[in-house]
Amino acid sequence: MLNPGLCLGCGISIKSSRYFCRHCDQSLARVTNPCRACGQPNPVTGELCPACLHKPPPWQAMIAPLVYQDATRRLVHQLKFSENTPLAEALVQHLISAYQLRPVQVLLPVPLHRSRLLERGFNQSLEIADALSRRLQIPLDPHSLQRIRATDAQSGLSLNQRQQNLAKAFDYQPRQAYRAVAIVDDVITSGSTMTEICKLLRRQGIEHIEAWSLARALANR
Ligand SMILES: [Zn+2]
Ligand SMILES: [Zn+2]
Repeated sequence: MLNPGLCLGCGISIKSSRYFCRHCDQSLARVTNPCRACGQPNPVTGELCPACLHKPPPWQAMIAPLVYQDATRRLVHQLKFSENTPLAEALVQHLISAYQLRPVQVLLPVPLHRSRLLERGFNQSLEIADALSRRLQIPLDPHSLQRIRATDAQSGLSLNQRQQNLAKAFDYQPRQAYRAVAIVDDVITSGSTMTEICKLLRRQGIEHIEAWSLARALANR
């Protein structure tokens, strides 16, 4: 990868082997003791938090190491609005080093609708999945999962409204039958996008689904 010797967070000069200066590195806070299923801080010991033990989510694991706030929030926004491959590579480092990622067959980036893609010119989830694919040597498939309905922005909607907004938004036409996949998104907020995609993939017989993302918005609970 190409490192210009400048911190990707604040632009100060750094050792060329690093992505971020010490200050920016420290401001990328990790979720403490994350639950394996929902990515939220787990108040008890064990892999799953009490909420997920009671009602498991429709995926097997969620890996989203950074807390979606402050510097992380700013950098994830930057990825959304400008194609920045070094930044995607720097942030996926956290995903790779945070956990023992279990092997999956393929990475499926959360797709943008065609109209949104034309407007922006790139899909940040694909950028992230691409960086992961190169680092982990896991194939990337940006074609099988498509967004067939343009949806309104999710922010400001209630959980119910989000689910309605996303109903039938996606289509899955796999080129080969996958059994274990990771869906890759930039940030997990309410989880309704993941839930909608998981329902679709489950109906198509995929047994093992993981949700991989750079950051997790923490729930108030
Ligand atoms: Zn910095
Ligand atoms: Zn949980």
